[in-house]
Amino acid sequence: MCLFCKIVNKEIPSNIILEDEEFLAFHDINPKAPLHILAIPKIHVDSFNEADGDLMGKMSTFIQRIASEVDIDKSGYRVITNVGKNGGQEVQHLHFHVLGGAKLHWGHFSDADPQGHF
Ligand code: 5GP
Ligand code: ZN
Repeated sequence: MCLFCKIVNKEIPSNIILEDEEFLAFHDINPKAPLHILAIPKIHVDSFNEADGDLMGKMSTFIQRIASEVDIDKSGYRVITNVGKNGGQEVQHLHFHVLGGAKLHWGHFSDADPQGHF
């Protein structure tokens, strides 16, 4: 069973913010912003590559609920999902990073030439 499935099953403790039948939100153990929350489906989905429209629709609503729950819906926030090796995905269970609580930086995603692909 993967790490986040164990968190869903409460085999590994987490600091839960919001939970319903299908989704769970908890604080990231290694926060990269004053608020760094992970939102996951309770069912195991490897990554965004396998997330269908129905799941993503419900996921969106759940993330919006998180933002208002922790009061960052008006001040703003960022939603990120890392996919695969180049995306930097370390846990192979679909998760969305919800980052906020301060003005976030933007830029420098890769040491490769940003113009190099075209
Ligand atoms: P990824 O790099 O896969 O997009 O993100 C995985 C995230 O999971 C990282 O931000 C990491 O800090 C977080 N993480 C890893 N293990 C645990 C854990 O046991 N508990 C919690 N709450 N977060 C974790
Ligand atoms: Zn899993």
